[in-house]
Amino acid sequence: MKKFALGVDIGGTNSVFGLVDEKGEIHFEDSVLTTLASTPTSLVHEIYNRIEEKTDLINDIYGIGIGAPNGNYYSGAIEFAPNLGWKGIVPLVKIFEQRFGVKAVLTNDANAAAVGEQLFGNAKDLTNFVTITLGTGLGSGIIIDNQLVYGQNSLAGEYGHIRVVPGGRDCGCGRKGCLETYASATGVVRSIQLYDSAYKASSGILTIESPKAEDVFRLAENGDVFCSEIIDYTAKILGEALAEFACFSNPQAYVLFGGIAQSGEDFAQKVKGFMEIGILNIYKGQIEIRISSLHDKNAAVLGAASLIRKELAK
Ligand SMILES: [Zn+2]
Repeated sequence: MKKFALGVDIGGTNSVFGLVDEKGEIHFEDSVLTTLASTPTSLVHEIYNRIEEKTDLINDIYGIGIGAPNGNYYSGAIEFAPNLGWKGIVPLVKIFEQRFGVKAVLTNDANAAAVGEQLFGNAKDLTNFVTITLGTGLGSGIIIDNQLVYGQNSLAGEYGHIRVVPGGRDCGCGRKGCLETYASATGVVRSIQLYDSAYKASSGILTIESPKAEDVFRLAENGDVFCSEIIDYTAKILGEALAEFACFSNPQAYVLFGGIAQSGEDFAQKVKGFMEIGILNIYKGQIEIRISSLHDKNAAVLGAASLIRKELAK
């Protein structure tokens, strides 16, 4: 019996990979600079060589799960990912399968996070939930009736681009007012410039050069009123959006994942509070907001490895 799933998380800068056993223990982990690989094939070969050189486990891999921006489950290809140097359609599954000689499966990083949460994280008891990834943007992985929802073109769950503020902030997608322009690490930083408050002038955040979302959370914790207002504003927009999403997914829980979520129970409770205000009656008090428990471990690698597990268990 081969023991390990290879989980690969392809990022714009770094690609992380690891060998994961059935308990979710990572036995070997490494990373390569995505930007150094001139072609996807050279990246895959580099990953293979690293595992072969540094472990004796290359023949113990039974399958490969890959999480990548714009990863298409059906075609097994990355399609026009804006943050990757490779252009056009990259048949990643085929390249991995040819090099490793085992089955591979691809999806986007938010879907991988959802499956990882269900197998190894804070959603083990759930068959209906949505993972919301709060990073540079906002992504979502929807598991309904214990199935990952892909949709016709593997594009389901683009919650980050649901418009929540008519005529609001410019989004990278070319439209205005998308959820991720408010509720994401980038959105929080934009709020520093754009959110107006009587307390703004006295805020410590204005003294920090290139402040990050975590600076806002840290200062809020220390009593900075302006930063607290930004967090409330972010939680309100996210909470109200999650209330609407309930209408088409009827989840038991939303699991918040990523840097902002990691800031803690406080933010999660605020999001829940705003979600409950004005949510459709039939959902009131029915939906939990949980925080991912995968932060400390390598969530991306675990999530990607979980994909192939779930796929082979079908
Ligand atoms: Zn957008």
